[in-house]
Amino acid sequence: MSRRMLGFIGLGVMGYPMAVNLLKKLGDGGKLHVFDVSNHVLESLKQEAPDLVVACSSAREVSVKSDIIFTMVPEGSHVRSVYFDEGNGVLSAELDGKTFVDCSTIDTKTSIDVHDVIGEKYPTASFYDAPVSGGSLGAAAGTLTFMLGCKEDDANLLVLKDPLSSMGSSIFPCGGFSLGLTAKLCNNYCSGLIAIATSEAMNIGIKSGMDPSLLSTIFAVSTAQTTINDKWNPVPGVCPSAPASKDYQGGFKVQLMKKDFSLAVETAKRVGAQLCLGE
Ligand code: NAD
Repeated sequence: MSRRMLGFIGLGVMGYPMAVNLLKKLGDGGKLHVFDVSNHVLESLKQEAPDLVVACSSAREVSVKSDIIFTMVPEGSHVRSVYFDEGNGVLSAELDGKTFVDCSTIDTKTSIDVHDVIGEKYPTASFYDAPVSGGSLGAAAGTLTFMLGCKEDDANLLVLKDPLSSMGSSIFPCGGFSLGLTAKLCNNYCSGLIAIATSEAMNIGIKSGMDPSLLSTIFAVSTAQTTINDKWNPVPGVCPSAPASKDYQGGFKVQLMKKDFSLAVETAKRVGAQLCLGE
């Protein structure tokens, strides 16, 4: 990566390891400007690379000092606060020519609002929805899937692929603005249902006296094979690196899945897609 002034806002379960991977390929003279409402994570990231990380005191400061800024916060309300907060938010800075990439999984309305306000005030700035899949394991390994809300011929795509490829191994332009979020909500609707189905099926086996590791190994080469079974098995001890085997540390919070499910169900209603399982 060439010399870059990058920014990252929101250093939680996903954002922190994503920022660590960005650091690895920052290039000569590059800096990563970071902000989180939690001082603890800011300090911790600063200690990982004191010469490369600039801990900032607001989202505004990150935006002033960076050219490409990633945001990774829990919900639409947090995204609104990051971008719209008077005095400290992104939009209180001068944004000409800057590129914002929001990796949070949020409602499309919030994403469209931020996109429109940035576009109206700063026509040379860009804002993309770019949610991810792969969880904390994929974030740490730099193998996330990015679902980018843009067309394949988007003018910024080449420039964006550079930092994105240090955090992910698959980057999909999804066809237009906000379609990255659509892809992500469809994915989580599906993977959430698979997680429930895998839990229930494993439980039937365990209650019948089966060894859960053997059952999971059978699933892995049978028609119940899924990423949830193979990497994120909900039974403690079956997958050593899964959150269930680590006292549920580093996983996908239930409130986040509930949010994604609600957003997917809302989207289905909006577009008139019939659901049997969602409710
Ligand atoms: P998290 O709660 O672990 O981290 C969120 C971080 O954002 C926290 O460090 C918090 O302090 C910070 N934050 C909140 N408001 C802020 C603000 N106004 N300014 C600056 N920082 C702020 O959440 P997470 O698990 O990292 O998830 C983040 C997003 O990624 C969510 O939208 C989630 O749905 C999505 N996601 C999560 C996973 C996963 O496995 N955890 C996988 C894919 C996508």
